Amino acid sequence: MKRFIYFLSIVFILTACFPADKVKPVNEEVHSQLSIHATPTAVLLETNVWQIPSSGLNIPTPVPIESLYKKVTESEHFVYYQDQGYQPVDLNYWMDQAEKVYGYVSQRLNIEAEEKIGLVFQEPDTSSCPSRGMTAGNFIILYADQQTGEKQLLGILAHEIGHAILISTEKLSRPATRGLDEGMATWAAGDYWTNWNGYPSFDAMIREYLEKSTYIPIYQDLDLIAAYQEPLETKLHSQVDCLVIRDILYTEWAAFLDYLLQQYGMEKLEAIFQSGGAEMTETEVINYPPDFYGIFGLAINQLEAEWLAWIR
Ligand SMILES: [Zn+2]
Repeated sequence: MKRFIYFLSIVFILTACFPADKVKPVNEEVHSQLSIHATPTAVLLETNVWQIPSSGLNIPTPVPIESLYKKVTESEHFVYYQDQGYQPVDLNYWMDQAEKVYGYVSQRLNIEAEEKIGLVFQEPDTSSCPSRGMTAGNFIILYADQQTGEKQLLGILAHEIGHAILISTEKLSRPATRGLDEGMATWAAGDYWTNWNGYPSFDAMIREYLEKSTYIPIYQDLDLIAAYQEPLETKLHSQVDCLVIRDILYTEWAAFLDYLLQQYGMEKLEAIFQSGGAEMTETEVINYPPDFYGIFGLAINQLEAEWLAWIR
């Protein structure tokens, strides 16, 4: 638990410290770099250092999240809670579905959750760049109402269960960047993710992005900052909904990790998750990037170009 609190604190600090101007616009130059068949010049990732303000950071003392809700019932792998009686789905039907999704995701990851997973529904997030689901430790919040489509709900649930199960393993959790974290949870959601989006596979989705020129290069924004800001003005995308960008980036990372797994194997995939990470001193937060070059012998943009040439 201590480690989890430490992890949350680091996430909090990093989120608080991200400069808003870190988002780089997607432009034609980047696209043309990735479409060159020869290996592009290596883009080496930088170590980022943020100063902790002299007033310090007010990190709230975490309370157990489940204490905020009322426990309703349990199934084999879940504990169900309610937020002030809010229940937008048929509970018995939903519990069956959730067990099925759990079975699929845990089999795909070949990992079982160490403890039962907490699950609660809340009303849809109405912010300008909304969350559809969230996982803190092994507790999942789904933002939905009766209008939320079932395929979407199952796709989001599978993704969140991916996060909740991944914390049970040291090997594929708590990576240095959000791209790896969200990519792995999306990969874990597998068919539930692609069915929701109406495609047979992650690769089919990537081909579609490339064809329609909606593909977003992943090497420039490893922390997916563009996925949480709205609206974003870019040369290729004007005023694009952040959810569209988020789904594209999550799917791209899932497909990219799938490629690394197939071509380079699980050992190297685990090594990339173990590399890099945040370190905190009294005055600074130092974020070391994942070491793609050291592990794969190619910089991330070179791996991305290799993958796109393979997928086309
Ligand atoms: Zn996620």
